[in-house]
Amino acid sequence: MRGVVMHAPGDVRVGERPDPVIEEPTDAIIRLSATCICGSDLWPYRGEDDGVHDMAMGHEYVGVVEETGSAVTTVKKGDFVIGSFWTSDNTCEICQAGYQSYCIHRTLMGTIGTQAEFARVPLADGTLVATHGMPDADLIPSFLAASDVLGTGWFAAVAAEAGPGKTVAVVGDGAVGLCGVLAAKQLGAERIIAFSRHADRQALARQFGATDIVETRGDEGAAAIKEMTNGYGAHSVIEAVGTQEAMMQAIASTRSGGHVGFVGVSHGVSIPGIMLFGTGVHVHGGAAPVRRFLPQLIDLIENHAIDPGKVFDLTLPLADAAKGYEAMDQRKAIKTLLTV
Ligand SMILES: [Zn+2]
Repeated sequence: MRGVVMHAPGDVRVGERPDPVIEEPTDAIIRLSATCICGSDLWPYRGEDDGVHDMAMGHEYVGVVEETGSAVTTVKKGDFVIGSFWTSDNTCEICQAGYQSYCIHRTLMGTIGTQAEFARVPLADGTLVATHGMPDADLIPSFLAASDVLGTGWFAAVAAEAGPGKTVAVVGDGAVGLCGVLAAKQLGAERIIAFSRHADRQALARQFGATDIVETRGDEGAAAIKEMTNGYGAHSVIEAVGTQEAMMQAIASTRSGGHVGFVGVSHGVSIPGIMLFGTGVHVHGGAAPVRRFLPQLIDLIENHAIDPGKVFDLTLPLADAAKGYEAMDQRKAIKTLLTV
């Protein structure tokens, strides 16, 4: 089969990879309907992760089940399915508590590589969720978004305790931050402030439910949030970048006793204890347990209540994956969908 391989930072190519086969009775093989490039794929692309060498890429996926192992009972050949970037058994105590991304039996789909024609999904029963029938083609981008960026933005909003009467600020105007705006709106937030300097991203943030835009960042950005909230700060702040500056901006924008939900993959982030002590801010996040939210997100998408597929502003065939990486690296595209 064809699949994307990152040979070294900045060197992405589509080549032949072995067809996946059932390795465990709990596996399923899916034929990808579409796949995509994640903001987190840019970390190795930019040489900011160690040891990148001939790495199969991709961890977001939607597709049709081709084959199942003998122990799989909840999905069958022909089902259209969505899963998360961490597989999960959905039965262990961590999964039962709603933290499937930390399942004691988890596997990272990024080590399997879903920017390809086919993928093996371990722990299929606890990982994959089938839609109600074969979806129309126009819904596929939204289902694909649910596989990661929507589920991650949703978790960030939940972790930040976004809800009715709350003011929510969102640090990061990438696909996850924008989906965080959408989630905050769905969860009933009263006021949603998006930090963004890019007109196209500001426009999408407003479509997704942002009521205000702040173009400044850092301490200046946090001061703007305080000013807009009678000096208090936001109740809930989503951090969807993963840098030190973004985390400091998120905590500084939050009122005392408020909540930060952080989902940007941390790169060199260090939080001073005295900052937490001095503000009384709750900080919760990490790898989003997307599986927890998938049934609800699938319903919202099937009912056309949300359209998170709008985050894909570039569509390319799998063969042109390198162009997709380049466009996202140069911030010419928010997110690239790859047709298979
Ligand atoms: Zn588990």
